[in-house]
Amino acid sequence: MSVDTSRARLDADLLINGVWVEGKAGHLDNVDPGTGQQIGHVSLATGDQVNEAITAAESAFASWSTLLPTRRGDILKRAADLLAERAEEAVATILLETGKTEADARGEIGRSVDTLRWNGEQAGRIQATTYPGIAAGSRRQSRPTPLGPVAVVTAWNFPAVLATRKLGAALAAGCTVVFKASEFAPATARLIVELLLEAGLPAGVVNLIFGDPAAVSAQLTASPAIKALSFTGSTAVGKALAAQAAPQLIRTVLELGGHAPVIVMDDADVDHVIATTAGAKFGSAGQSCVAPSRYFVHETLYAQFVEKLTAKARSYVLGHGIQDGVTLGAVAHQGRVDALLQLVQDAQDHGATITTGGQQEPRDGFYFQPTIVAGLPLTSHAAILSEEPFGPIATVSSFTTPAEAVEAANAAPYSFAAYVFTDSLQTRDELVAGLNASNIGINQLAPSLPDVPLGGLGNSGYGYEGGTEGILAFCQLRLVSESAG
Ligand code: NAD
Repeated sequence: MSVDTSRARLDADLLINGVWVEGKAGHLDNVDPGTGQQIGHVSLATGDQVNEAITAAESAFASWSTLLPTRRGDILKRAADLLAERAEEAVATILLETGKTEADARGEIGRSVDTLRWNGEQAGRIQATTYPGIAAGSRRQSRPTPLGPVAVVTAWNFPAVLATRKLGAALAAGCTVVFKASEFAPATARLIVELLLEAGLPAGVVNLIFGDPAAVSAQLTASPAIKALSFTGSTAVGKALAAQAAPQLIRTVLELGGHAPVIVMDDADVDHVIATTAGAKFGSAGQSCVAPSRYFVHETLYAQFVEKLTAKARSYVLGHGIQDGVTLGAVAHQGRVDALLQLVQDAQDHGATITTGGQQEPRDGFYFQPTIVAGLPLTSHAAILSEEPFGPIATVSSFTTPAEAVEAANAAPYSFAAYVFTDSLQTRDELVAGLNASNIGINQLAPSLPDVPLGGLGNSGYGYEGGTEGILAFCQLRLVSESAG
């Protein structure tokens, strides 16, 4: 397989009320992290254009929310088919603007097709729940009712999956959307929206904007028209947006950072653990909220684990996703490289050994070497044990008792993915009960597929995305109690 980059379209304008328009606040470069070169541009909205997008979403709500749910679903399913047909264009676009490898880009587009299709199928299945009436001849019903126009703000690292998850659920529920996608991966978001339009989405139902992120979000959360905010991104920005939304009591779903621990018990098969988790660690250059990033390994396996994980990390071929044989891509921008260098330096200052990597790769673009940080004590205050690294870097520390491992895993202020490797049923139950985590893989990964709800706690946010719960996040459960005349 190879990627035909001539298929990529790397500019992104705004979509307001069904019309593609240039942003009147100028534009930013769309940069290929794999080369550091400009490959396109992203248009920036003025405050007036953000208002136009809000007004368009408000005007489109009455007809979209009352359209037969199965018709809404048909549009999502048609968009899924179109994305599958135009997968080569989507793969080339996502690869060039995010620095992903070909395998990562193909995997993401496949998941995005599935996500649109699943939400499309689900649209017609949103059901009211009927309860016994309080008197003869009466009934009570809880009816999921679309909230209204909603704001959706996404991160750059899975630009297709995040767009399809949020738009799929909001549209299935019957909401209209102002979609502020990341300026770091704008063309993928543009393509998803374009395909929805081609599939028959009426004007104004989804409005795509880019701009000064803080100003746009402040405007969206201050608008009385916007009834909910669904955000995926960093913990710091999520907290700021939650505070902005609070005075208007806008419902928020926050899908934020993670720092997934992997607990490897003494009965685990080291080769299996590494084969199972390495792809999730180094896929998308480690820039995933569910990437394993802290390995806690029983002391009896620790030495061989460090040796084998180091060898695995060294086996990755760093480079641009369009090159054959590349298995590890670029990170988003120089800011991520700098943050990773700082984490490595701080870990060394706390006594860690860097068994491989630890440096920016000396080549054009933004590349960080696959890095293993070994030997930090469980109670170390090294920043890498508590801050999401969001890069191709993992720590390995040794433990003696399961309780110690759980305490160390829970020491980071996130509650998202966690992984456990052991044959013992009793130990699995103890670890699962003790771990502060929302998405646990036992002897396997824990992929967030379209049919299951996923949501964090603590610095990982709150609310759910995916599954029926993800659609209900965009609904009010309206309780109707009725009796005859
Ligand atoms: P980010 O927080 O920098 O940006 C996310 C979005 O917020 C973007 O659209 C951005 O333009 C906007 N934004 C940035 N600064 C803002 C500000 N001051 N005010 C308002 N909006 C602002 O995050 P990122 O670098 O795009 O993504 C990485 C983060 O996203 C990581 O922490 C990762 O774990 C998290 N993430 C979480 C999930 C999940 O499902 N929980 C999935 C993917 C990514």
